[in-house]
Amino acid sequence: MSSRPITLIAVLFALVPGALLVAQRSGTPGQIRPRPAEGRQPEFPPPSIIEYKPRSTLVTPVHLVPRAKFPAVDFHGHPPLLTSPEAINQVVAAMDSLNLRVMVSANNNMGDRLKQQLAAVAASRYKDRFVFFTGLNLRDLGPGSGARIAAQLEADIAAGAAGVGEISKGFGLFTRKPDGSRLKLDDPELDTVWETAARLKIPVFIHVGDPSEFFEPIDFHNERWLELALYPDRRYQDRSKFPSFEELMAERNRLFARHPNVKWVLAHLGWHANDLARLGRMFDSLPNLYSEVGAILYDLGRQPRTAREFMIKYQNRLLFGKDSFQPDEYPYYWRVFETFDEYFDYYRDYHAFWKLYGLGLPDSVLKKLYYGNALQLTAGIPRTGFPK
Ligand SMILES: [Zn+2]
Repeated sequence: MSSRPITLIAVLFALVPGALLVAQRSGTPGQIRPRPAEGRQPEFPPPSIIEYKPRSTLVTPVHLVPRAKFPAVDFHGHPPLLTSPEAINQVVAAMDSLNLRVMVSANNNMGDRLKQQLAAVAASRYKDRFVFFTGLNLRDLGPGSGARIAAQLEADIAAGAAGVGEISKGFGLFTRKPDGSRLKLDDPELDTVWETAARLKIPVFIHVGDPSEFFEPIDFHNERWLELALYPDRRYQDRSKFPSFEELMAERNRLFARHPNVKWVLAHLGWHANDLARLGRMFDSLPNLYSEVGAILYDLGRQPRTAREFMIKYQNRLLFGKDSFQPDEYPYYWRVFETFDEYFDYYRDYHAFWKLYGLGLPDSVLKKLYYGNALQLTAGIPRTGFPK
């Protein structure tokens, strides 16, 4: 990798303090104030955003949690293809070490690909450890597509799928109709698909959009600057290609409101983990709405009091999910949910420039989060291996 971007970043950061001072003078109370000896500059070259890793000197109790306190369902699972005994055994070994009882494969497997995995798991020793969701083929959507997709959905559920999903963020962000226009989330052609899911009483697991910062200018006020600098495919600033964050959320909310009988499961807390009151208002107005906590741990862990209160208040609506299947990352979730530990590391520096704090959730809430709500919502999840 070339070192030029890093050098550039270092130079840009060296220029920032002056600009910050201007902003601070007009700042509101509670913000960082100008330093004493205003205008003083560091005598050593400042480190770049990726170089500065201060060692914490804080000494507080540490409680690592390698295994979940109660058996868990990973509602947002992305296991590898489960068509061989080796693949199945390997995933189950990792699940056992984490106390993951059931993994939902939310990999959009339809038709034969779905049936092959269902058969392989049924023939294995672990048929009560996996559940498969089917996908929706949203390509080339035109008149009649809704009926075709609904028929595929019925066939896949009859074959043994337990739900729909994960409907990817491509729906709403990238997927186009044959005329080149963006396929909107509330396109009426799909109404028959959602009504089919409601009739079958299966959960519809949907990922809409991405963190709001991915839609904002990539400047030094953007919380996800490093991530946006690292990953070109997460940049949605171009309004000729992408809707704004709020436009997408409005579309999503119209879709949910039009189909109140669908058991919607919104991935990633709907990207409202940084504004939990907003998600709370959605829960209040939509009794069939659920949400899943994958890949937003950095937001829960930086507001332990608010997040704890929220997770207790909405304890019947929240599901554990992890997203990418990296076994060594799950214990960070257990630690945030189960302990009162303070100021500890998250596993991705480009998601969070801050530390995490434990929420210390009560056992009754942990049980619902880890498995109770998933079982209640999804008839197809095996009931074995969970506490009463
Ligand atoms: Zn996912």
